[in-house]
Amino acid sequence: MTDVTRLVIFGRQGAGKGTQCDRIVGHYGVIHLSTGDMFRAAVAAGTDMGKQVEPIMQSGGLVPDEMTIGIVRDRLAQSDVESKGFVLDGFPRTPGQAEALVEMLGDDKLTAVINLDVPLDEVTARMKGRGREDDTNESIAKRLALYEEETVPTIDWFAERGMVVNVDGLGTEDEVAERIFSAIERSG
Ligand code: AMP
Repeated sequence: MTDVTRLVIFGRQGAGKGTQCDRIVGHYGVIHLSTGDMFRAAVAAGTDMGKQVEPIMQSGGLVPDEMTIGIVRDRLAQSDVESKGFVLDGFPRTPGQAEALVEMLGDDKLTAVINLDVPLDEVTARMKGRGREDDTNESIAKRLALYEEETVPTIDWFAERGMVVNVDGLGTEDEVAERIFSAIERSG
């Protein structure tokens, strides 16, 4: 099917990605795929994978590519995702994950890769007010540093292939959502 919407959204933690993913789901009817949510569910369920990823998540580190790519591969193969499309949130986070994603999609091209841009000082302030369990000062600092080290090169990987649209993430929820929708329309 060519009309299925397949999206990747990038943005520093605290950039409002979760909120905007809800807006995208409401607008396009795609499925929200968040690797962070998948890992949190595994931790909550006490699965073997959950036990392995819990300390990594607590410290703000990255779960190994092999495990992360595996859960995304399994989820992308399910029929609801194949028919409704998706917005991937929090994946890919490394160039290796990006390559794996493009390879597993094969002929199913991504509709758009959105880079929701919010400056570092703004997201740091927002995250400190968020109060999530893995939001200690150290883990916030580590996640933001890893974003610069691993995820920015991942965005560059897509940019080199002409696939990234930058969206200004400052403004009201509605303003940002409108910018994202028009970026998707322009790419699609
Ligand atoms: P998030 O909700 O996207 O901030 O993810 C929470 C945590 O889950 C991250 O700090 C990582 O420890 C882990 N995680 C989520 N997605 C990935 C990914 N694509 N690669 C590696 N680790 C991930």
